[in-house]
Amino acid sequence: MTPRLRLRRAPERPERPPVGYKIAHAMLSADGSRVGFRGVSLGSDIVYGPIDEAECAYGRRHRAPSRWCACGFYALHRDLDAIELTCATEYRNAVLLEVLVLGRYERHERGLRFERQRVTRVAVGRCACGLPAQGLTDSGEGIPGWRALVSVCGECVGHRPWLEFAAYAQRAGGRLVAVCDDRLPPTTSHVQPAAGTAPAPFPTVDDDALVPQLAAEAALLQARLDWFQVQLARLTGEAG
Ligand SMILES: [Zn+2]
Ligand SMILES: [Zn+2]
Repeated sequence: MTPRLRLRRAPERPERPPVGYKIAHAMLSADGSRVGFRGVSLGSDIVYGPIDEAECAYGRRHRAPSRWCACGFYALHRDLDAIELTCATEYRNAVLLEVLVLGRYERHERGLRFERQRVTRVAVGRCACGLPAQGLTDSGEGIPGWRALVSVCGECVGHRPWLEFAAYAQRAGGRLVAVCDDRLPPTTSHVQPAAGTAPAPFPTVDDDALVPQLAAEAALLQARLDWFQVQLARLTGEAG
């Protein structure tokens, strides 16, 4: 391999792994034994573990990230950029992940595309009732083999099974922390508010719902365009 085909600014062994931020759906395996994360865009049918390697979202057999494929893990440099995505109607129940970027990676203007990640922090919004969340419970949604989780407080969980933050972290291997973060929107699940409290307003969907969706896609596209520009510059001999 010639030097000009190497991944841009991708040292094999950085002294400290870069940190990135992303949103994902928190998942629990059907038997309740494993915690996972489902992406919100590219490769959203794949559930990753707390420490995992990116599979090609297009089902190709190659290591990610590859020069000729858009797959791999993506994360943003700033947590606020990831939090902004949770304004989008369909991402309201997504959690904010802080990840250590492991393995090969590419650094882009707004974020990173990389091979391996370790989730170190899972942040959720408040319970639908407005109280700080204390754990996670079944959202009523999911994909075959995996239930989606949403934040819940000890008042609203009632008799349903749930994982308090410490138990959730333990289920995830004990190497991450789970917390309630007020910068995220409260969950919009169908959790019934505790007795004596006003019901949370039902989320409305209007014509503007498409705008945050596009913003989320734009964040990913920006990373990809960035990448294509580098490839193009290399092919035309303008590598910097
Ligand atoms: Zn691929
Ligand atoms: Zn509650």
